[in-house]
Amino acid sequence: TPPHVIVTGASSGVGLHATKALVDRGWHVVMACRDLAKAARAAANLDINPASITPLEIDLGSQSSVRRFAADFAALVKPLDALVCNAAVYLPLLKTPARSPEGFEISVATNHFGHFLLSHLLLPHLQSPGRRAKRLVTLGTVTANSEEFGGKIPIPAPANLGALAGLEAGFRAPVAMIDGKKFKPGKAYKDSKLCNMIISREFHRRYHQNTGIIFNTLYPGCVADTALFRDAPKLFQTIFPWFQKTITKGYVSQALAGTRVAQVVADDAFAQSGVHWSWGNRQLPSRDAFSQPLSSAANDAARAARLWELTAELVGRT
Ligand code: NDP
Repeated sequence: TPPHVIVTGASSGVGLHATKALVDRGWHVVMACRDLAKAARAAANLDINPASITPLEIDLGSQSSVRRFAADFAALVKPLDALVCNAAVYLPLLKTPARSPEGFEISVATNHFGHFLLSHLLLPHLQSPGRRAKRLVTLGTVTANSEEFGGKIPIPAPANLGALAGLEAGFRAPVAMIDGKKFKPGKAYKDSKLCNMIISREFHRRYHQNTGIIFNTLYPGCVADTALFRDAPKLFQTIFPWFQKTITKGYVSQALAGTRVAQVVADDAFAQSGVHWSWGNRQLPSRDAFSQPLSSAANDAARAARLWELTAELVGRT
């Protein structure tokens, strides 16, 4: 049997192209998507062999859906060699917070809570013996890493989890931000991505040595033309790709971003745990991936441990 990987949000953008790149490498991909018809259509458009994919329904914003997905996956009796936490929502124009079925602000609920719960539910599959070291790969982003220029941009505000006051307070209405402060939808996305990077490191600290699982994150480059920006202002959607292509030179195609995800999942060169992989902000054709240091906000071990505990409580995994 081929190696098996679950890719969340495989119906579009980076996740879809990662699916293609992994199938091209001989992997079988479980496409974990909220719209299965869309996932099947998207795969067909890229000529992905239907025998190499299994679309399986998940709504990462809903904890009951994540639990159902884990049960459905277990019933398939497929081995699991890797999990890619890729799905995300970015809703920068919301005036008031949208809420998940459990009552949590939707971008943190989807991007952070959903993946935290999913990773925990699938951990037994990643711990079971396999032919290769198993990997849990999470999509990070430069805008949530204040170590890099892209993470310092104050529009609407840099990622900042503060003292986790919003989570400490239970994270339900009226609370909408992890730091407990005023609702800023674009910042909620950045905060959720910072959580993704912190939790990957915390998984590494807690589980790498005794399980051998490789936990890492990556920034594939600025894929400025994906559907991630569908809810951003129309003018931004026109200017942003042009700006990234011509001014910052940070632009990366969806196909190249997908290939980079596949490399981090499958290649020996990426068999190191606790690493944030980057190809840099300014794209240079000859540059290899390197280990990008994370900000002090991401490396604060005490806060990482507290973020883990609070999240575990809010998703019922204590
Ligand atoms: P897309 O919007 O193209 O893809 C996001 C995927 O997530 C879609 O398949 C979407 O499903 C899925 N999704 C959203 N909400 C849910 C949900 N509740 N349940 C299940 N699936 C869901 O964005 P990208 O490909 O650009 O983003 C992929 C990842 O890459 C994200 O984690 C993002 O943070 C990261 N990233 C992106 C960068 C970029 O420049 N684009 C840069 C750095 C990181 P559907 O098709 O149904 O909408």
